[in-house]
Amino acid sequence: MAGTGSCIFCDIVAGNSEASVVYRDDLVTAFMDIRPVNSGHTLVIPNIHSTGLEKIDESTGGRMFSIACRISEAMPSAGIKREGLNLFLADGVIAGQTVFHAHLHVLPRHTGDPFAIDIERLERGIPSRTELDNQARVLAGMLARTRRR
Ligand code: AMP
Ligand code: ZN
Repeated sequence: MAGTGSCIFCDIVAGNSEASVVYRDDLVTAFMDIRPVNSGHTLVIPNIHSTGLEKIDESTGGRMFSIACRISEAMPSAGIKREGLNLFLADGVIAGQTVFHAHLHVLPRHTGDPFAIDIERLERGIPSRTELDNQARVLAGMLARTRRR
């Protein structure tokens, strides 16, 4: 679904929509977020359309992560100040996804900025070790069956 007009990020990959491109190769494209949470906020996307994580093959997923790391590393020398950084990916409406072509946010962070996922503050019970072990076992079993291309 490249450049069909139905997906803004496919249009960007196809060169049919304006974007401030930071990086592109055979698998991924990175460009500046049009409404940055903080200055330097960048998105890394797969060149081939996938709504969420489920259709991203391992090479593309790995490339998305490694390019995000390289962008993060390059930020200070590019004059993008940051005290810290989040890599963030929203998969699904409930997770906060608003553009339905997968994208990894590379998000510089500063004290007091408006972005917050404060896991420590969430009220939650602590599961028993048995529950955790069971979950790990089932998940590991399923993972073995979901080997990607
Ligand atoms: P999410 O809520 O995780 O789906 O994030 C979507 C992100 O895409 C937001 O941070 C938007 O500002 C950004 N965005 C939407 N349209 C464009 C565009 N044409 N160019 C660059 N960034 C965009
Ligand atoms: Zn798309």
